[in-house]
Amino acid sequence: MPPKGRIEVSDFYCKGCGLCVNFCPQQVIRLAPDRLNPKGYHPAEQYLESCTACGICALVCPDAAITVYRFAKQPAQASA
Ligand code: SF4
Ligand code: SF4
Repeated sequence: MPPKGRIEVSDFYCKGCGLCVNFCPQQVIRLAPDRLNPKGYHPAEQYLESCTACGICALVCPDAAITVYRFAKQPAQASA
């Protein structure tokens, strides 16, 4: 199934608590293993594509660091 959306995580606000990682039903978020944000935390990042844009990660984030984008539906192809 194609991804229905994606997220952006604000490195500035994320404190690396991992709540979004634990609550994402699609398990597409991780704490970045190889970089730190300006606060010294490993920030969350989406690393797999199968986001459904459910919004749970943004709801549970205590620092409002996540923005969820839902992809527009493609119009049905007309058959020739
Ligand atoms: S919107 Fe839903 S599926 Fe997408 S990353 Fe957040 S919790 Fe996971
Ligand atoms: S829940 Fe928010 S603060 Fe915690 S790791 Fe995820 S994006 Fe960062």
